[in-house]
Amino acid sequence: MLLRMSTLFLRTLREDPADAEVPSHKLLVRAGYVRRVAPGIYSWLPLGKIVLENVARVVREEMNAMGGQEVLFPALLPREYYEATGRWTEYGDTLFRLKDRKGADYLLGPTHEELFTDLVKGEYSSYKDYPVVLYQIQTKYRDEARPRAGILRGREFVMKDSYSFDLDDDGLKRSYELHREAYIKMFDRLGLDYRICFAMSGAMGGSASEEFLAPCPTGEDTFVACHNCGYAANAEAVVTPAPPAVTGEPPALTLLDTPDTPTIESLVELVNDRYGLGVTAAGTLKNVVVKVRTPGSAETETVVIGVPGDREVDLKRLEAALSPGVPEIFEAADFARNPGLVRGYIGPQVLKKLGIRYLVDPRVTPGSAWVTGGNEQGVHAAGVVAGRDFEPDGTVEAAEVRAGDSCPRCAHPLSIDRGIEIGHIFQLGRKYADAAGLDALGPDGKPIRVTMGSYGVGVSRLVAVLAEQLHDGLGLVWPREVAPADVHIVGTGKENQIEVALRLAEELAAGGLRVLVDDRAGVSPGVKFKDAELLGVPTILIVGRGLGQGVVEVRDRVTGAKEEVPLDAAAERVR
Ligand code: ATP
Ligand code: MG
Ligand code: MG
Ligand code: MG
Repeated sequence: MLLRMSTLFLRTLREDPADAEVPSHKLLVRAGYVRRVAPGIYSWLPLGKIVLENVARVVREEMNAMGGQEVLFPALLPREYYEATGRWTEYGDTLFRLKDRKGADYLLGPTHEELFTDLVKGEYSSYKDYPVVLYQIQTKYRDEARPRAGILRGREFVMKDSYSFDLDDDGLKRSYELHREAYIKMFDRLGLDYRICFAMSGAMGGSASEEFLAPCPTGEDTFVACHNCGYAANAEAVVTPAPPAVTGEPPALTLLDTPDTPTIESLVELVNDRYGLGVTAAGTLKNVVVKVRTPGSAETETVVIGVPGDREVDLKRLEAALSPGVPEIFEAADFARNPGLVRGYIGPQVLKKLGIRYLVDPRVTPGSAWVTGGNEQGVHAAGVVAGRDFEPDGTVEAAEVRAGDSCPRCAHPLSIDRGIEIGHIFQLGRKYADAAGLDALGPDGKPIRVTMGSYGVGVSRLVAVLAEQLHDGLGLVWPREVAPADVHIVGTGKENQIEVALRLAEELAAGGLRVLVDDRAGVSPGVKFKDAELLGVPTILIVGRGLGQGVVEVRDRVTGAKEEVPLDAAAERVR
C-alpha cells in the first residue's frame, strides 16, 4: 500500500477544535482522521477509515479464531421484534424511532439480541445444531443523552456484537470463557491497557457479566481495583464475593418475615431459617457480613446479618456463639466501615438494574429494611440495609465506594479510577430465548430451551481509546497493528530528496509494507515533521539533507529515538 500526501484527501489542523475537551477528540480531528457531522455523528476520512478497518480486522480475526461466524444484520428494523421483548418501551429515548411511508414503526438497532435469536430459531431445530456463536461488525444507533468526546460516545457507532447459543449452563459458561479469552487476545494485540471488571449483572451471579475497562482519566465509568489480589469491579457493581449459584428449582421469592424491630436474635433466626443454618448468636452485632461454608463443601455463601444502629460489632462473640462444626465462619467484614459494599451487594437499585424481583418489607424500622432478591439461579441476598437513602418503595441511591475501602476479597485497601468501557461480556441466560420460544429438539424428542450470551466490543470507540491512551504532546502514536501505515517517509528539501523518497516508498511498498510518503512540493520541512508527528505512524523515515552523504534518518515515533542509516540499508532497517 502506498499513500502519497500530495494527493491524499487530508487536511491537518494547527488548532484544537472548539468543541473538543479530551485528547483523542482533539487529535483525531486535528490529524484529519474524522470530521463532525452532528453531535455524536462523525465521518471517517481516509486515514481514519484505515485505522477503523484495522481495529475491525483484529476483532474479526479473534472472533473467527474462537469459532464465531460473521453475519450482517440490517440496522433498520421493524418494531415487532423489540415489542416482543419489551425493549421498544424499555429503551425509552435512547432508541431512534422512525416510520415508513405506510406509517409502520421502525427503529435503528441499538443492539441485536432479538434479531439473532429469531434468526437461529428459524434455521436451527435440533440439539445437534448447537452450540453456535454468531457475530457482526455493524453500525449501531443510540440517541445518547450526552454524546461526547467525538467518536468516544457516538449516537452512530460501530460495534462488534456476538451472541452465543447453548443447550445448557455449562455450555454457556464455555462460550463466555471463549469470548473472554478472545477479548484478552484482541485487546492485547491492540496494545491497550485495560482491566477486566465485574459488572453490574455480576453482582449476584459471579462472573455472569464483566466489562473490559480502559483506564483513562476522562472515562465515564468508575472502577475499583485491589493491587493485592487483582480484584476489579465497576464501582456500581462492587460486591462481596459472589455466592455460589443455587442449582435445581429456583426457590420461590418470599418476603422474609421480619419482626417490627429486628434484634440480633430475630435476625439470626431468620438467616437460619432461610439458609438452613445452625447459627446461634447473642450479644451485640452491627452490620456484619458472614461468609459461611457448609461442612464438607468447598462452596461458600455470603450471608448478611446485622442490625442497624450504633452498637459495636462483636465478632468474637458471634464466632463464639456458633456451635462447633456448624457452618464455619472464615471471614467477616464490618459493613459499617464499608457502607458502599453493603448497599452495592444487596441494594434494591442493584437488584432493579439486574432485573431481579425483590421485595422490601414495608414494615421498616426507621432507617432499615429487609431485602431479599433472587434471579434464575435462586435467592442470593437477604439482609438488613442501614440506609438513610432507603425508600420503602425500593429505591436507594447508587452505592458509593471510596478509595481505601477494603477489598471484598482480601480486605486490602481498594484503589479507585476512571475508565472507558471497551467491551462487555454477558451471560444472558434464557430471557430472549423465552421471549422468542427458542427451543432445540432434544435426543429424547423433548424441547430444550436454549441459553444465550451476548458480547459487545466498541470498534469505533476503540479508535478513540487508543488515541486517548497512546499520544504525546506532539500527536498520535499508533501501535503498528492499527496504524494507517507502517512507515511514514518524509521527503524534505529542494533537490532530489522527494524523488528519492518516492522511490524508496515504492520499493518498501513493493516489499509488502504499508507506506505513507510526504511528497508534497513547497511545504517546509518543519510542517512536514509536525504532520508526521501528529499523524502518529510508528516509524518515520526522513529523506533530507543527509542524502548528500548517502544517509537517511529513521525516527521511532514511540521512543523518539533517531538514527542515521545508509540509504541502501533503509528498506531493511524499517521492515
Ligand atoms: P456505556 O456504558 O459506555 O454507555 P454500554 O454499556 O451502554 O456502554 P453495551 O450495550 O455494553 O454499551 O455495548 C457494547 C459496547 O459498545 C460497549 O462496551 C462500548 O465499547 C460500545 N459502545 C456502547 N455505546 C457506545 C457509544 N455510544 N459510542 C461508541 N461505542 C459505544
Ligand atoms: Mg450506554
Ligand atoms: Mg456500560
Ligand atoms: Mg455495557
